[in-house]
Amino acid sequence: MTCSVLLKIDSSLQSICHNFEILRRHEYGITMIPTQDLERFGTDGLSSETVLESRKLYGKNELTPPKRIPVWKQYLEKYQDPIIRILLVAVVLSALVALLEGESLIDTLGIALAVILATTIAFLTEFRSNRAFDALNAMREDTGVKVIRDGSPGSIPMRDIVVGDVILLEAGDMVPADGYLLVAAETEADESAFTGESEPVKKIVQDSVLKGSYITGGRATMFAAAVGDRTKMGQIASSLTEGTRPETPLQIKLHDLAHLISKFGYIMAGLIIGVVLIQDFVIGVPPQTPIEIFSVILHACMFAVVIIVVSVPEGLPVSVTVSLALTMGKMTRAKSLVRRLIACETVGSVTVICTDKTGTLTMNQMEVAASSVEVPEISSGLPKTPSEWITLNAAVNSTAELEYHEDRLITVGNSTEAALLRWLHRTGVSYTDIRHAWPSISQDFFNSKKKQMSTIFEYDSKRYILVKGAPEIVAARCSPAPDLSNLHHLAQRAMRTLAFAHGELKPDGEEPSTLIWDGYVGIRDEVRPDVPEAVKTCNDAGITVKMVTGDSPETATAIARETGIFRDGKVMTGPEFRELSDEKRRDIVSDLQVLARSEPHDKLLLVKALQANGEVVAVTGDGTNDAPALRNADVGLAMGIAGTEVAREASDIILLDDSFPTIERAVWWGRALYENIQRFLIFQLTINISAAILTFISPLLGFPPPFTIIQLLWINIIMDSLAALALCSEAPHPALMNRKPIPRTASVITPYMKFSILITAMIYIVVGITCMITGLPFMETPEQQATAFFAGFVIAQVWNGFNCRGINGIMPPLFRGNPVFFVIMGLIVGIQILIVQYGGEIFDTVPLTPLQWIVIGIGTMPVLLIWPFLRFYHQRTKKL
Ligand code: ADP
Ligand code: MG
Repeated sequence: MTCSVLLKIDSSLQSICHNFEILRRHEYGITMIPTQDLERFGTDGLSSETVLESRKLYGKNELTPPKRIPVWKQYLEKYQDPIIRILLVAVVLSALVALLEGESLIDTLGIALAVILATTIAFLTEFRSNRAFDALNAMREDTGVKVIRDGSPGSIPMRDIVVGDVILLEAGDMVPADGYLLVAAETEADESAFTGESEPVKKIVQDSVLKGSYITGGRATMFAAAVGDRTKMGQIASSLTEGTRPETPLQIKLHDLAHLISKFGYIMAGLIIGVVLIQDFVIGVPPQTPIEIFSVILHACMFAVVIIVVSVPEGLPVSVTVSLALTMGKMTRAKSLVRRLIACETVGSVTVICTDKTGTLTMNQMEVAASSVEVPEISSGLPKTPSEWITLNAAVNSTAELEYHEDRLITVGNSTEAALLRWLHRTGVSYTDIRHAWPSISQDFFNSKKKQMSTIFEYDSKRYILVKGAPEIVAARCSPAPDLSNLHHLAQRAMRTLAFAHGELKPDGEEPSTLIWDGYVGIRDEVRPDVPEAVKTCNDAGITVKMVTGDSPETATAIARETGIFRDGKVMTGPEFRELSDEKRRDIVSDLQVLARSEPHDKLLLVKALQANGEVVAVTGDGTNDAPALRNADVGLAMGIAGTEVAREASDIILLDDSFPTIERAVWWGRALYENIQRFLIFQLTINISAAILTFISPLLGFPPPFTIIQLLWINIIMDSLAALALCSEAPHPALMNRKPIPRTASVITPYMKFSILITAMIYIVVGITCMITGLPFMETPEQQATAFFAGFVIAQVWNGFNCRGINGIMPPLFRGNPVFFVIMGLIVGIQILIVQYGGEIFDTVPLTPLQWIVIGIGTMPVLLIWPFLRFYHQRTKKL
């Protein structure tokens, strides 16, 4: 292959140099290279030395990253948060109070410090998550590109392409640099990124191609004329700055929730101002001097600020970012590379998976297992027997290659064709010898729409056509009509069937009206051993699996039966499916289990029909034509190994190992993510509500506020940033796949969660008020009482963290699955002790004795008893 490509390049080099003036006048908008580059580098591909030379001259194929918002600006933006502004007001208020009452400014400093700490922690967690996404984007530049270097083709990362490289492109590849085509065979490119025109553009030799566009048909060889920032894409990119990521549905839901709760906080804050003022001015001894009046109003305002600070859950949407980043990392390690963040979330609510067959359900190790001829035979001269014709057809009418790699036979290209080559190889036939002896004049490549491939060659100044493809399609072109009955047996044994035919071209070069049938082969592709299990898990999880394949209905049904996808549903073929009206299609899709003989467009129709029925659809795809289906599906899954760049670019998740069980695991992770956020919500909202109400009630009962502002800020850090990390790292558990998908419109807060939050918060409030009234045992002074109240509240939340790990009646194993939880909870306890023992001045606390600490620890432990009660509630309500 290398040879023929180089030959073609050689001949086109002359015409290119000759036509360079014409090229120059074309308006392609890309940076033109001077003629000397073509002469200097030639079109035979670069050598190791010329690569260095070119890189020195024109640089690397890397785009300068878009202008970023500088880190300090991102950080300052955090201070625009309304809650932080309110806190800044609090800083000023407390400074005024301190000045008025002649106290020290230590409180003010403390609040300021806490505000800075809270924003910094929130900023850092978010910043770290964002870095994970940037790393993903960078990976794109590492896509492999086929180039000719040092005289032979090889694959190098996209960023290593330099000006002068000769690049081999085929359908599905992304164009890695701007340049010109040296060879074009039926080449079509999708330049919609630049023109907005979605129809592919035909490309011929000398046409320009742009980095970032896609080859959608045929093959081509290009000369790289501009790389990196000098490409058109680079010029466009440099004029843009980084956009902000859109929010995911869950983030939006949580935003709304946070909004609602904040309203509640503001109303409470307003009420508290009123209550305190009435208490002071109407009921108590009214303040006399203006300074006194001012000070009372200031105090009321401080109270309001405190209420707002505790009740506004500003960390909710951020928690999603944190857990998405955590989940993304874990999913990638589990072989699904997440390209669009939102997919982590959506994949958990998928209700239907439409999957390819070859490679996803099967191993994609195709072997010829049956054939209509005994053995392949080599002909001397023009083939005479069917066996000789099939041998010639299999060897020549093909784009695959066999290569020895460290003494192992590996196959390159189309796996069906590779199976044929291995079949020849097994019986001692050298396909390369045959290809040399019978060079092709032209080829019409296989695609899953046509389901056939043909090659024309010349012998004795006559031209012949070799055709291979799906049996019924080949048979329809043959006369006399062949007997296909034997083929059905093969198909029923789950074999892919492939037929061969040939014919002589008419003297004017036209294809003959009928072909001569030569025979067929049956190709076996074993089902992956772990697929039936994964299909069953999906079914148990309320997810239907449907197979979409280009294979015959018999083969498809046989495999679908083996994998458990086909049970009692419908099998249809693409042509039948396409004929239906939209309505009819919607009616039958729920029963449809196998769609055979389908074209890529059918996949899109299927996705749309399912979505119209309200399903959340995941679809797999590898081919260039699969892109529309991948883009339209709720979750597009592209193949990492067999997939084309186009398919990958259109997808949300890339399956690194192409296999179906990986999809099932991705669903599992998606569900775990959702549940983890629910865990976090229970934890945060319990603190929110109990702290806010305690703060609200205590002045009504005539007690001083239970927490100071600084104490509340620490509680805020626990519930916003730390808890998200602790609870969102929970590992997925099997029970997640035993229940139906959660509808997308469902509220994140389930009745169970409401119950759990309200019960726990209520217990905190009742116990808290009781403690205020009766005083805490073992605490001697009022200062110790106040300190113990604050410490007890925090430690009780730590115990409640354990309750929150359990959800919906299931508690994960104590020490397995989430070490982060223990680290964070340990950290909270440690810091709490430090605060109390040493933070006295700022946090308004006094040191406690070890005995008193033990009392607090054990005294709050009964919080754990809430869990069995919650589980009981869950089981009861589930039965109802
Ligand atoms: P799928 O990817 O769903 O397994 P394909 O679209 O690859 O199905 O193939 C559909 C049919 O086209 C196959 O059943 C086979 O008969 C035929 N076919 C597959 N590969 C080739 C090829 N390289 N040349 C000719 N025909 C082929
Ligand atoms: Mg295929």
